[in-house]
Amino acid sequence: MKKRIGLLYGGKSAEHEVSLSTATAVSKAIDYAKYEVHPIYITLDGQWLRGPELTQAVESTEQLQLKPNQILPNNITEFVLDKTSQTQFDVVFPLLHGTNGEDGTVQGLLEVLNLPYVGNGVLASSAGMDKVVMKQLFGVAGLQQVPYVYFLRKEWDQNQDELIAKCEQELSWPMFVKPANLGSSVGISKASNVEELIKAIQFAFQYDRKVIIEKGLNAREIEMGVLGNDRPNVSVAGEIKPMTEFYDYDSKYKDGSTALIIPAEIPTDVESTMKEMAIKAFKILDCAGLVRSDFFVTENNEVYINEVNTMPGFTPVSMYPLLWQHTGVSYPQLIDTLIELAIERHTEKQ
Ligand code: ADP
Ligand code: MG
Ligand code: MG
Repeated sequence: MKKRIGLLYGGKSAEHEVSLSTATAVSKAIDYAKYEVHPIYITLDGQWLRGPELTQAVESTEQLQLKPNQILPNNITEFVLDKTSQTQFDVVFPLLHGTNGEDGTVQGLLEVLNLPYVGNGVLASSAGMDKVVMKQLFGVAGLQQVPYVYFLRKEWDQNQDELIAKCEQELSWPMFVKPANLGSSVGISKASNVEELIKAIQFAFQYDRKVIIEKGLNAREIEMGVLGNDRPNVSVAGEIKPMTEFYDYDSKYKDGSTALIIPAEIPTDVESTMKEMAIKAFKILDCAGLVRSDFFVTENNEVYINEVNTMPGFTPVSMYPLLWQHTGVSYPQLIDTLIELAIERHTEKQ
């Protein structure tokens, strides 16, 4: 019997578009001899829409984006209440990035519905999405990371001067200012002086009520894929070489100027350190399924963990699948493995 896969994509997130290309790629690569794919599109304003069944790979994002007249409206209340729709899936694949999808919210819904789903659970997803919580846990695991300062919008409104002084005291220029909960570099800027810092903080507050400010490193960016549940495997390392000032949204998705070098040219001992750190990060956040661990490696080969991404970019030309391809796991095999891991995790919980 074919497994019925609910493909959740889109999402109420600044990374909505990224999810559309991921879903298109997965629907093209998935083995239709093994799986029946049921697309569920979440609009930018959070409506859940069911599309017709996909019986073959889609040719374009548009096709997957489901035109309004093709849509069988099935909002979230119906999705939750409709027993047939819940039991209709063997596994849900939440191909959602950023808030309301990669952050544990949708994972919580799927838990309540008792549906197996691909990837990280509620705790890992939400802890991985909040850069402050993630860094605090990395600290507990003893992982080396850059110094950081964080605060809430209300604190900023009341003590601007004090908080700027704190950043200058605890960090050094340049600084990176980020919304605490987001991804794809949305809302992130680099600041080289107080004036830029204030602007960057105000910009980041447009996306979140909490911001994090880090000491900026001049370092290589090297990433590793982790795949598995309780005994995860780590892929080879890959280096990102953005042509822009830093790895911003456009260099990630738009201008195609970023070079991915796989495997990264790094000494073996540095690679082993990174592998160890990737596993520690995976374990301290209680991850499952997949994670991409991102590191900074300085000129003298010091390794700092930057972040983990609990639903990393997942098109065949994204870093995570490419890392696995170079490790010997093809894109369709990766999809199969993730689906198997989802079922394994669900069964173990019962
Ligand atoms: P996101 O979750 O949005 O990818 P990141 O923390 O990875 O956020 O930051 C995005 C990019 O900004 C990084 O890939 C890197 O290019 C740059 N960056 C972030 N923090 C720093 C830092 N502390 N030092 C140097 N570059 C940084
Ligand atoms: Mg991220
Ligand atoms: Mg990143």
